[in-house]
Amino acid sequence: TQPIHIIGGGMAGSEAAWQAASLGVPVVLHEMRPVVETFAHQTQGLAELVCSNSFRSDDDESNAVGLLHWEMRQAGGLIMEMGDKHSIPAGGALAVDRDAFSDEVTARLEAHPLVTIERGEVAGLPPEEWDSVIVATGPLTSPALAEAVLELTGEESLAFFDAIAPIVHADSIDLSKAWFQSRYDKGETEEERTAYLNCPMDEGQYEAFIDALLEAPKTEFKEWEKDTPYFDACLPIEVMAERGRETLRWGPMKPVGLTNPHAPDVKPHAVVQLRRENALGTLYNIVGFQTKMKYGAQADVFRSIPGLESAEFARLGGIHRNTFLNSPRLLDGRMRLRARSSLRFAGQVTGVEGYVESAAMGLLAGRLAAYERLRLEVATPPQTTAIGALLGHITGGAEAETFQPMNVNFGLFPPLEAPAKGRRGKKDRKIAYTERAKADWQAWLATLPSVPAAA
Ligand code: FAD
Repeated sequence: TQPIHIIGGGMAGSEAAWQAASLGVPVVLHEMRPVVETFAHQTQGLAELVCSNSFRSDDDESNAVGLLHWEMRQAGGLIMEMGDKHSIPAGGALAVDRDAFSDEVTARLEAHPLVTIERGEVAGLPPEEWDSVIVATGPLTSPALAEAVLELTGEESLAFFDAIAPIVHADSIDLSKAWFQSRYDKGETEEERTAYLNCPMDEGQYEAFIDALLEAPKTEFKEWEKDTPYFDACLPIEVMAERGRETLRWGPMKPVGLTNPHAPDVKPHAVVQLRRENALGTLYNIVGFQTKMKYGAQADVFRSIPGLESAEFARLGGIHRNTFLNSPRLLDGRMRLRARSSLRFAGQVTGVEGYVESAAMGLLAGRLAAYERLRLEVATPPQTTAIGALLGHITGGAEAETFQPMNVNFGLFPPLEAPAKGRRGKKDRKIAYTERAKADWQAWLATLPSVPAAA
């Protein structure tokens, strides 16, 4: 059997490779790192998490991303298997030890007899003789490939910004000022209780901090970045401060659900929260503090936070532009480029947003490409499922004119039928969405042809 060529060994490409190989189809996975670097990745591992280490909520009963976790687990997803294996406590969220996670994803793919990993950039359109290709090159797709795809489609790419939050060495945090506590004391074990560290601010400290944020020198925008809008969920902290001096107190610095044991009678005016970054508990990231302040200024501004006066940074915050296709216009219902159907796209470059969503689109693309190679007909998953809802968003549901990357959410699902009796509350509606999705996902999986191991 001719191999499927997968370009990009990130969240989507790694999962796509695993799915196709698991169906018995050989795969060549092309990853440009370490030969060519991106400005966010720091290792040469596959499925590297470039910013936070969180897969977000693991609640599969009333949360759309938790449901996505569940669907991927049911479908034998490698990313979820490794995420579960290398999870670290974070309340109701699924956070992972990023190095252990990426190392084992890499090792599992390297060990698979049907997977060949080639290190090097695919610096333009793939050769014609690659008759089945999955492009999973992510938000930092190399310019040579991006330009070639744009030329082929006659489109201009849409773009927006994502930003990276800083990471602090735990042993440089002053625990006579900071304290361990998860908001509203979520979590039962000692490990869960140490998932978050909190740094309190009084009013004067908060006001001085806002001034420092507003005054700090920022990274200049490049010419090609100037017209790029921010993605609202990932606003740089100083942009939030520019929107209003109280914005941060209502956002990442909200002082609710927390009691400072060093001064139990004094309610903090604002609280900076840090979340455990690795299983060892040696690193913490400052939650919601993505920024485009210059490195030198960042260190000064963040060291003005009580408890972080001597903070050592494992990584400072940063900013980048994200590139994605106008998928509703360019892709067919099976994620193939209309202009060249041997090219299938997956991951963030299709206009989904987030690690889990990207991996989920890789899972689907890997399977669709493999069944196609095996000449087996399969239906795409229904839009009532989380993966089907994402597919619907990128390949038809969204308006091409205003297309924006999207996290999974129940707004992408077809509405529920009206309840027979009475009104359904918000929570009940979410539960009804997940119950319907789970039944439909199981039913869809049951329609898939079984493939002999040695196909
Ligand atoms: P990636 O995981 O980026 O994988 C793409 C791979 O393709 C990379 O390994 C790259 O080296 C390779 N590649 C690119 N071009 C070529 C080429 N021409 N030839 C060969 N290989 C190539 N999501 C979250 O859920 N939480 C976050 O906190 C978060 N923060 C982010 C911060 C930054 C700076 C960025 C850039 C993104 C962030 N995202 C975050 C989004 C995140 O990138 C995606 O959710 C996810 O990693 C995308 O998966 P992917 O497989 O599509 O791309």
